[in-house]
Amino acid sequence: MKLSICHLYPDLMDTYGDKGNILALKYRSEKRGVDVAITQLTIGQRLDEKIYDIFFFGGGQDRQQVIVSEDLKTKAGVLKSEIENGKVLLSVCGGYQLLLDYFKTIEGETLNGIGLFKGYTLGSSERMIGNILIELNADIFSAISVNSPTIQLSNYPTNYLVGFENHSGKTYTENPSLGSVVSGRGNNGEDKTEGTWYKNAFGCYLHGSLLPKNPHFADYLLSTALRNKYGDIKLKPLNDSFEWKAHEDAVKIARKNS
Ligand code: GLN
Repeated sequence: MKLSICHLYPDLMDTYGDKGNILALKYRSEKRGVDVAITQLTIGQRLDEKIYDIFFFGGGQDRQQVIVSEDLKTKAGVLKSEIENGKVLLSVCGGYQLLLDYFKTIEGETLNGIGLFKGYTLGSSERMIGNILIELNADIFSAISVNSPTIQLSNYPTNYLVGFENHSGKTYTENPSLGSVVSGRGNNGEDKTEGTWYKNAFGCYLHGSLLPKNPHFADYLLSTALRNKYGDIKLKPLNDSFEWKAHEDAVKIARKNS
């Protein structure tokens, strides 16, 4: 089996080790004998259809987002139709913001998003920074429970995601949220929501990197991408004792900070 991952704008949008998400997907695939090809796609490069199984779009500052939002228009049609067809996407922070309808910066400049997720972001003078712990949306958690073999091996509660957030944009979305904030700020620091999802596309404020210390979510993305391509496959479990330990430590730190 093979998976093809498209890393969007890695030269402009890769904050706090977001790239580690790609490394985790690659590592966890190769341990199962699945080959991985990674393509980096940036400004001026065409996004072709039906090539990629997983898309990743990391975070960046407002300045980079101005450049990226212009170019993203040229990729929007293909990206949205791939998501309609069930392809997997993970976006973090600045990338997430550009997949919503728009982002109005604190200076009053409006950056167009591509409206994959319904909602918008407003720049604020408040910086939402620190460790964040969320309890997963019940639908997502039950899908993860069925498709992530690592969950059976965990001695820890598996209905959480942990990450590190750093943003001043406040996001308001009509899509269901990825989870509810236990500790930290999330989408906007007001309504206890964090992230969003549509079909197999996810947006969140969870840097960290996210996937190395949330192996259940990494396996969920991988198994979804593999099932899209190869039908009803089952991932074999990995020895995730270090990954779950890292997860649990991050949970403890996030709880202490709340
Ligand atoms: N510019 C955005 C904000 O501060 C995104 C930051 C990020 O991607 N870390 O809200």
